[in-house]
Amino acid sequence: MAIKSFTPPQRTLMGPGPSDVSPRVLEALARPTIGHLDPAFVGMMDEMKQLLQYAFRTKNELTFPVSAPGSAGMETCFVNLLEPGDKVIVCQNGVFGGRMKENVERCGGTAVMVEDEWGKVVDPNKVEEALKANPDAKFLAFVHAETSTGVQSDAKTLVELAHQYDCLAIVDAVTSLGGTPVEVDAWGIDAIYSGTQKCLSAPPGLSPVSFSDRAAEVIKNRKTKVQSWFLDLSLVMGYWGPGAKRAYHHTAPINNLYGLHESLVILQEEGIENAWQRHAFHHQALKAGLEAMGLSLLVNEADRLPQLNAVVIPEGVDDAAVRGRLLQDFNLEIGAGLGTLAGKVWRIGLMGHACNANNVEYCLQSLDQVLGDMGAIEKGVAVAAAQTVLKSAA
Ligand SMILES: *Cc1c(COP(=O)(O)O)cnc(C)c1O
Repeated sequence: MAIKSFTPPQRTLMGPGPSDVSPRVLEALARPTIGHLDPAFVGMMDEMKQLLQYAFRTKNELTFPVSAPGSAGMETCFVNLLEPGDKVIVCQNGVFGGRMKENVERCGGTAVMVEDEWGKVVDPNKVEEALKANPDAKFLAFVHAETSTGVQSDAKTLVELAHQYDCLAIVDAVTSLGGTPVEVDAWGIDAIYSGTQKCLSAPPGLSPVSFSDRAAEVIKNRKTKVQSWFLDLSLVMGYWGPGAKRAYHHTAPINNLYGLHESLVILQEEGIENAWQRHAFHHQALKAGLEAMGLSLLVNEADRLPQLNAVVIPEGVDDAAVRGRLLQDFNLEIGAGLGTLAGKVWRIGLMGHACNANNVEYCLQSLDQVLGDMGAIEKGVAVAAAQTVLKSAA
């Protein structure tokens, strides 16, 4: 039998990413593919860099999307900045800090780990101790928004500390960009990477990055070749670099770039500060509903990511059964816990286009039904509690 075209089900994506892609972005993806050196395409690339500078709040010249998902943005930062023997202070308070350590070691560097409990912020005091104890460290690397736990660390303070001890700061902003403030220039971040499928609500497959002049200088003065041919910025920038002359490096994911361009146009139309506010507001509504039904959030209020809510799974409730029913009966995807939090929390995303009142209500209503049927919560109160918050805006 011949295999037929694939038609995915219509889901509501409220997990840790990918998030729902706006119909405008989906429409942009379907526009005609043109050549990656076509002058019209090169014009779009220039706009893309401006739009990313807007999103990152930076004037950095070296700002562009890597042609692969967030993990490739992470790798781009490490392979271009590190040389064998370099020492890096790596903060870990969840899954993604562990991947930074992997990157450092694969570059031939040494990672000095600063570890904090999963669900807690990166502790600046511990970071300062590590910086003091390792005067030969060249970089401080940390995750701004830990998607595995729903915690946001104080990036501004951590970058300040890095600079105070003569280190460059490498920051993971995959989940924060577009959802909560990320101020590349004002905070002095030296290297930053993000992803398209979280709060930017474009499909996965691209990773916006930005490098300060100081970081660009470090890259320029390398003594050794970058270990990755594909991610070597000195080669990639022949294609993405300034000026009209663009040389082939790899074939850019053309249609995916149309999608990111459209999602950034949408962000600019809304205004990034308004987008931050929208995430904070809908988080309050979701929180009110969850708490009304008797559920609690893992993270301290002050350190919570509005776009990623880690909800403690009530005693005796079967994690997989609940997520399974949400997907099957409600076409609703929420995330499972990772690592030490597997089976202990659900991760409910309110990211980008998916961060809206309908989704807050739909998620609460679905949870109300599924958990209510199991007798695990107080039934019938969550949606009203959220609506009280939602109405307060009008
Ligand atoms: C999702 C995520 C990544 C990895 O991004 P991919 O697009 O999945 O490669 C890295 N860091 C954090 C904090 C993330 O949430």
